[in-house]
Amino acid sequence: MPSPPADLVARIEAELRPLEVELAEAWWESNTRSSEAADVRRTAAELARRSYLADAETFAAVRAAREDLAGDADADPLLRRQLDVLYDAFVPHQVSADLRRAIVELETTVESTFNNFRGSIGGRRVDDNAIAEILRTSDDADERRAAWEASKQIGPEVANRIRELARLRNQAARDLGARDHFALALATGELDEARLFATLDDVDRATAEPFAAWKHEVDASLARRFGCATGDLRPWHYDDPFFQSPPAEGAIAIDHLFADADLEALTLRTYDGLGLDVRPVLGHSDLYAREGKSQHAFCIDIDRAGDVRVLCNVEPSERWMDTMLHEFGHAIYDRECDDTLPWLVRGAAHALTTEGIAMLMGRLPRDPRWLRNVAEVDDDAVAAIAPALEEARRAALLVFARWVLVMTNFERRLYADPDADLDALWWDLVERHQLLHRPDGRHAPDWAAKIHLAAAPVYYQNYLYGELFASQLDATLAARTDGLVDQRAAGELLRTDVFAPGASLRWDDLVTRATGEPLSASHLARQLNRRA
Ligand SMILES: [Zn+2]
Repeated sequence: MPSPPADLVARIEAELRPLEVELAEAWWESNTRSSEAADVRRTAAELARRSYLADAETFAAVRAAREDLAGDADADPLLRRQLDVLYDAFVPHQVSADLRRAIVELETTVESTFNNFRGSIGGRRVDDNAIAEILRTSDDADERRAAWEASKQIGPEVANRIRELARLRNQAARDLGARDHFALALATGELDEARLFATLDDVDRATAEPFAAWKHEVDASLARRFGCATGDLRPWHYDDPFFQSPPAEGAIAIDHLFADADLEALTLRTYDGLGLDVRPVLGHSDLYAREGKSQHAFCIDIDRAGDVRVLCNVEPSERWMDTMLHEFGHAIYDRECDDTLPWLVRGAAHALTTEGIAMLMGRLPRDPRWLRNVAEVDDDAVAAIAPALEEARRAALLVFARWVLVMTNFERRLYADPDADLDALWWDLVERHQLLHRPDGRHAPDWAAKIHLAAAPVYYQNYLYGELFASQLDATLAARTDGLVDQRAAGELLRTDVFAPGASLRWDDLVTRATGEPLSASHLARQLNRRA
């Protein structure tokens, strides 16, 4: 006879599983064959899942069963784990129906404004690609400034609604006994706030000096290019509107290496070299651009029973090579999860562990061994660019880490006080962490132009943790399997120690088991200090 908690878990699995599969199918359809009917199906699936997770009686039963097992030393750890996963899934939805609806409706209107708004330059409407093109290529500072300002024009359109969203999310969190939404989101995401900020401090210390030195050089070359003093450089002189990635001055272009490449074949070849078979995923995927499909890239596990799909819009460029290897990293993680595990824990341990694998794989196009072995670029050509590749990889890590410091610190302060002077706070953080100069006399809600604050709240830290996990795994593989490229032992290590356990372990236990130590910034710091 199964125990009452086991019965409860079995019942919830039986009820939740079809809702999740339907949502995944609907999500895939709306992204690959966009139509009004597809949107209606997706919204209905989303609401069905959310209202199931809002059920107070089921939640009370989960909470009671979880408390019972907590005092039972002989309890099955897998059962206990499933109740933990269910508890975290139900908690954020335990708010009044009115408040839930108010939040969903406000989120939808803000996202819709983001989808439809276009900035303007001198009265001409411009999309994000046009803005990016100017910031990548123009030598005219006035034109760059106009493009950068256009990228921020969405801010005043959405800022008040994002403040209101923060107030509503806080109200929901406080109804559940949390300090604010930031604290609740971390706690139900199995992240400890004190530890997160200790890690951010470590990252700050490890990157401050090398970032300042790198930026000093980049600023000198930007000042030469724009004919100004370094003290006159402003945010529009850097290529990315948020300075999330290095400007061309701090990078090296290798697109020409992929001009005639078959990216699908190179992806297959990369994973074959690890003894990991991505063919079943390729067969279900949608990889090339066409009308009526999403312009982005993602991987989705439809049923946790083998049907894993990737969406891309592949072009022969380095960016898409990186993206293909990244998305198939997510895919192989899902595919290689032990299929005898209960459905509730059959998937990645955490967003940060699957991002870590994806980032580890996405770094390969800049790895000299991968370029030689897999892309078959000749030895001399690889040797000639190897030092520049190493520098560019290091610059990208530095710039991204400094940017995450801005985002995560800002988000904590946003939820601590949605009515604070956020415009000034944003630029204080940007100046401190990214060493940019705020535009003179500017008072505008530039923070609100970052869509994550509205659409993917309290998620950004997962990208940084993902980079840390990738660097830590990189060190483990270097020590135990002579690296990653064409090392079947590396594929086997990833399969056994990272993929197979799924979410049967908490992410922190999984990281310690796979790499022999808790997740920390030390391997990232070591990579940053290893100059080519
Ligand atoms: Zn990813």
